[in-house]
Amino acid sequence: MSGLFSIVASESEWLDWRWQLGQSAASYRVVIESLGWSGLGAVHAKYPIRVTPYYMSLARSKEASDPILRQCVPNVAELREDDFGSADPFAEEGYSPVPRLVHRYEDRALFLTTSDCATHCRHCMRKRNWSCLGGRPSDEVLEQARDYVARHKEIREILISGGDPLTMDDAELARVLDAFASLPNVEILRLGSRAPVVMPQRLTEELARVLGDCRKPVWLATHFNHPWELTDLASEGILRLLKQGVPTVNQSVLLAGVNDDAETLKQLFTGLLAIRVKPYYLFHGDPIEGTTHFRTGIEKGLELMASLRGRVSGLAMPAFSFDLPEGGGKIRLEPGMEIQRDADGVPVFQSCDGRSIRYPVRRD
Ligand SMILES: *Cc1c(COP(=O)(O)O)cnc(C)c1O
Ligand code: SF4
Repeated sequence: MSGLFSIVASESEWLDWRWQLGQSAASYRVVIESLGWSGLGAVHAKYPIRVTPYYMSLARSKEASDPILRQCVPNVAELREDDFGSADPFAEEGYSPVPRLVHRYEDRALFLTTSDCATHCRHCMRKRNWSCLGGRPSDEVLEQARDYVARHKEIREILISGGDPLTMDDAELARVLDAFASLPNVEILRLGSRAPVVMPQRLTEELARVLGDCRKPVWLATHFNHPWELTDLASEGILRLLKQGVPTVNQSVLLAGVNDDAETLKQLFTGLLAIRVKPYYLFHGDPIEGTTHFRTGIEKGLELMASLRGRVSGLAMPAFSFDLPEGGGKIRLEPGMEIQRDADGVPVFQSCDGRSIRYPVRRD
């Protein structure tokens, strides 16, 4: 099925998301054997490899610079010690009133369904906790989260994330969606998943019906980072959901060596519109241990946004943003805006609750 990597599959296996997911759990050998790069074992021991055969098949070379491989194959730079890496840089724990629920913004709350993912993205902000959360939530955990949301009538939107909630089957997913959708104060649900990118086979007719039949509107937020990820399978799956009333938006991360040039971003954002996906955010890489080789600096992001403005449709333009440490929340940056700095030249931003918070920058 895939030219570069000797992956053997029948067509029906290739199109079956359970086959893709099952293969991803054993991808270490395939990746190591077919690439033959040295030094991967030590990185894998700390941050395990996991990748679907489908995603590997999008690579166009076996070079470390390939934008697909850069996102899914370990890099020795992940073991570099950085002084700002922390397990919970956004202080999510402090904003978690009950297990798996994060309530940081007044009208929306985040529920973490599972720590499983179909592919381990090397730039993931949750990479230190890849297996900590565990699988599907128990009835008790789900009930506690539901109670909390029921008591907090200001919550109107629930983000269902993980891990990747689309590694769960339709029945498990429906159970989680319904727990929240059945509350009168919950108006919409937002499902965060990278499945359209790494396992679009997951976007079946049955899934589209489960999401479309939910008693509250479901939006899908996904994570395309490179134009090569915009395949026919992805496009067909997204249309299937849309036909059942489920719109998709995209959150990209600006990644050095993957998409940090204007032409790639232009193709990505206009290509997303062409498959009916609205570019929503372009995030600057978070200060997470094991991912600093992907960070570009916020000035670079602002330059890229400035060069796209006017060259592409306004509809194609996402908001350039990043998450402040210490639970400061998301900050949106516009080209041309003045950035304050402290005496050491470190950028300082006002959080949504009025604190001044320093943003750690890469030092090298
Ligand atoms: C990002 C985030 C949200 C959603 O923010 P939007 O700006 O609405 O996309 C909600 N809760 C938490 C904890 C988040 O990190
Ligand atoms: S799918 Fe999301 S949570 Fe999972 S590894 Fe990728 S970025 Fe992280």
